[in-house]
Amino acid sequence: MSLSEQQAASLSAETVVVAAGRPPRERDEPVNPPLVLSSTYFGTGPLGDGDRGYGRYSNPTWDPFEEALGQLEGAELPGLLYASGLAAVSSALSLVPAGGVLVMPSHSYAGSLVMATELAAKGFLELRTVDIADTDAVLAQLAPADGRPASMLWLESPTNPMLGVADIRALTAAAHQAGAVVVTDNTFSTPLVQQPLTLGSDVVLHSVTKYLSGHSDVVLGALVTSDAGLRASLLHHRTIHGGIAGPFEAWLALRGLRTLALRVERSQASAAVLAERLSTHPRVGSIRFPGLASDPGHERAKSQMKGFGSVLCIEMAPVAGVSGSGESLSGADAADRMIRALKLWLPATSLGGVESLIERRRRHAAEPASVPDNLVRLSVGIENVEDLWADLEQALAGLGR
Ligand SMILES: *Cc1c(COP(=O)(O)O)cnc(C)c1O
Repeated sequence: MSLSEQQAASLSAETVVVAAGRPPRERDEPVNPPLVLSSTYFGTGPLGDGDRGYGRYSNPTWDPFEEALGQLEGAELPGLLYASGLAAVSSALSLVPAGGVLVMPSHSYAGSLVMATELAAKGFLELRTVDIADTDAVLAQLAPADGRPASMLWLESPTNPMLGVADIRALTAAAHQAGAVVVTDNTFSTPLVQQPLTLGSDVVLHSVTKYLSGHSDVVLGALVTSDAGLRASLLHHRTIHGGIAGPFEAWLALRGLRTLALRVERSQASAAVLAERLSTHPRVGSIRFPGLASDPGHERAKSQMKGFGSVLCIEMAPVAGVSGSGESLSGADAADRMIRALKLWLPATSLGGVESLIERRRRHAAEPASVPDNLVRLSVGIENVEDLWADLEQALAGLGR
């Protein structure tokens, strides 16, 4: 590969996303890695985990992305690609021993919560959900005076969709003291904004579907760790449970990764502008964005992130009298009507693509009831920020004064 670990460590992340995971610098080598479509590999002799062998064990098209992601997260080992973010969640949760205790944010990504809840219902593990922003409450669940210590601490920061910010350093230190493994879902931040391994986490998780691939045309997940033992367990789980990445998706993800730094820079800057403007709009009841000085997670985010990401949430205010009809709307109805009036923002789930997406989260049956029904999540893309604002403004204006 084109970049050694030492080289990657001496370059800025904006360069690594472009330079990592390329074929050798030798005459007539392609500058981009090829897409390899083969379910099996020529060979004789012993075969085990980590060997090329067969298409479920490995694929040369995974390697450059896995190497680049490992370098970006500051890991000593390449990452592991999975069929989806949730396939990576499944593999990470397999590290909890039978009957072990899992401490998880009550506002984790809904799919992660559903999986953990179902595993707990079957008696495979004990689930303790916590407000991840409340450090003392999490500490109490990691090592309760009258209960068993945790086997795994799950972190997501900022959380999806509530944008709660965890004190990653303090929580990982306490989890390690309790003997727990720490997994951090870093999907919202990307390694350019936050590096959980350097803050103490053992494993980092990504829904590669989101910012890393960045074009809403791929579903993929990844795990990264510097711990060889953990990586071997995860690789074995991936091989045996079979949640592997398609080679074409892996190829597209690396293509998307090349522009990650530019996309993150633009979307973060636009999110900050839109958050400021939305925070004073009369139709917006409240806003969560760690970049706002008034946000409860602001100082903590500043201490562990380089920027504040580009997802924000608003709670729509109820409307007493819509102009024209005079009808009144609940906050949830106002949110639905505003979203339907948008012409540029795409009403769709997901986040982290080049296009700006907007969604009322409770339209998902699996979304926890503790997420307010008038909560709208905005994923800011890379369009011109004034065009994005003009569209929001006209849709909000349609609700009346
Ligand atoms: C989307 C998402 C996931 C799940 O990833 P998929 O690729 O959809 O399986 C996990 N965590 C977070 C924070 C996400 O946003």
